[in-house]
This record gives sequence, structure tokens and C-alpha cells, in this order.
Amino acid sequence: MSGTTKQAPRERVEIRRTGPEKYRWTCPEGHIAWDRTNNHIWCPTCRQQHEHGEDVDPEHYHVIDQKTGERVAWEDVEVVNP
Ligand SMILES: [Zn+2]
Repeated sequence: MSGTTKQAPRERVEIRRTGPEKYRWTCPEGHIAWDRTNNHIWCPTCRQQHEHGEDVDPEHYHVIDQKTGERVAWEDVEVVNP
């Protein structure tokens, strides 16, 4: 979808999944084992809970920065491999 209105370029958030940084970024439920797919954040731990009958959706559209409490939209997430 490309509109005609100009938007400021979105800031990508580089996320490292190793070392202490690994614990900084979590799914909205607080899990660290999420994956970024082409159209959402997918959390296997939420998926497990969902399979156990809990009212949890494994598909998310943002991750949480536990350091600041901010949400980062999945499209701004850039997973950086060391
Ligand atoms: Zn989760």
C-alpha cells in the first residue's frame, strides 16, 4: 500500500538476540523466544499456551522493549545477527 501523503521514514529498531539484549525484547506476554515473520511476530511460547487452552494469541504485531516499556511495531523490528 503506497499512499500519496509523505511520511517520515520509519525508524528501524535493530534488535540483537544474543547476550543480555536477548532478554530486553519480548513478546507482549513477556516471552523472549519470538520470531519475526513476514507479517507478524510469532511466539512459540504463546502458541504452547494457546494449545493448552489459554486465551493467548501467538501472533503479535509488536514486541516490548523491557528497558523502556515501549512497543516496537513488527515492521520496525530488524533482527540483527552477530
Ligand atoms: Zn509470547
